[in-house]
Amino acid sequence: MTDTYTRFIRSAPGSLLAKQTGLPRPSRLPRRGDRPEVLGPVVVLGDSPGADQLARLLLAEGHDVRRRFEELRSVGSVIAVLDEVASPADLGPILLPLSSAMRSLAPGSRVVTISRPATGADPAQDAARGGVEGFLRSLAHEMRGGGTANGIQVADGVGLDAPAVVGALRFLLSARSAFVAGQLVTVTTADGSATEDRSAPFAGRTVLVTGAARGIGEAIARTFAADGAQLVLLDVPGAGTELARLANELRATPVQLDVTAEGAGQRLVDFLRERSLTLDAIVLNAGITRDKMFANMTPGHWDPVLAVNITSQITLTEALIEAGDVLGAAPRVVSLASTSGVAGNKGQTNYAASKAGVITFVGALAEQLAPLGGTANAVAPGFIETEMTERMPPLNREVARRVNSLQQGGLPVDVAEAIGFLASDEAGGLRGQTLRVCGQNIVGR
Ligand code: NAD
Repeated sequence: MTDTYTRFIRSAPGSLLAKQTGLPRPSRLPRRGDRPEVLGPVVVLGDSPGADQLARLLLAEGHDVRRRFEELRSVGSVIAVLDEVASPADLGPILLPLSSAMRSLAPGSRVVTISRPATGADPAQDAARGGVEGFLRSLAHEMRGGGTANGIQVADGVGLDAPAVVGALRFLLSARSAFVAGQLVTVTTADGSATEDRSAPFAGRTVLVTGAARGIGEAIARTFAADGAQLVLLDVPGAGTELARLANELRATPVQLDVTAEGAGQRLVDFLRERSLTLDAIVLNAGITRDKMFANMTPGHWDPVLAVNITSQITLTEALIEAGDVLGAAPRVVSLASTSGVAGNKGQTNYAASKAGVITFVGALAEQLAPLGGTANAVAPGFIETEMTERMPPLNREVARRVNSLQQGGLPVDVAEAIGFLASDEAGGLRGQTLRVCGQNIVGR
């Protein structure tokens, strides 16, 4: 979709006007392929054994790793390791060296904090751990040039070399996390395994994507296909032509099915059995909006939104789990929530009810999948440039694009990349979480 303002502001007259008036100037966000996976030099701050461990890991992979800023003119990535802070007084010595290096951060740079979540066991320690969160969320608002700051919280007892910590770090340092800003990813267990082939992380895996014919679903399909997955792409019969075209291009298996149809779950199970397909990952993306102020809400606006956005997710996953023979080992479920489900949104009581339901649903589903070695998580996109947001009134759309730290809408591929991370082998230690892909939209946390 066209962001006319950003196109204008990047032109010579637009740039001049922005300089004179202080209008927002969204930076071009680097994405996969635009720059190295990890932008160097990488400065690892902190002197805990965990900091040493991560520095060694990155060094072994051939990155230019430093432990101080010294005289560096340009810094690509900063990892602040705060896993052993015992009181708020411990934060300054680790974090303050970054202050004078802020102006040396390269365009598209990355800052990642690594800390532990508060536990309620030790007031001073919890204050320090909570402090990391406040620091991180504020710093993310101050990043420039398309750079981002995010954090990883690692549960006590889980080592910093756990697969999900390393996987989250790789994701947050890379350009794949272009539109993730000011977020904390919590690693709760040491589960998961290292990705064997990082150039094709889903080779040999089968992934189902619902609502795949267009928009974010199409980007999810393309991203998984680029990463080597075999795909089962599902959409309503009305989108059959677009679905067939995409499936053909990606050598995927198309399924024309309305996820709200009576017996949709069983029909999907039968479809998979007939083709001897087992699913390693399920992306529950199909979703609709029927926005209305609550004073004007009718069952015609309410019921379909709840039916597509949440009830179908419950019935499909129930059918797939109950079938017993259509899921691979360690299945990953990733569901589409929304920032409206986190913070609420005027005119979207129906949509927010469904998406807030998704956020709590993945928590419970994660418990159910844990004995199978599986996980369930969600992504909550903010404003993403798709046909869904193209239908918004122009003024609302323009405001929605600017009210985040990156001052622009995200692209469908940004959501797809976050889903790829949550579905990866490495992410086994992430359970029941909702990762926002919203450029640190000001709504909610
Ligand atoms: P979209 O309208 O462009 O695409 C949605 C797809 O889902 C379509 O292909 C549609 O045919 C399919 N679909 C709808 N009902 C279905 C049904 N009953 N059965 C099977 N397929 C069905 O929407 P999008 O912007 O790509 O959104 C994808 C997901 O991301 C949705 O869950 C949406 O709520 C969520 N989301 C989008 C944004 C955004 O800014 N675009 C923000 C937050 C969350």
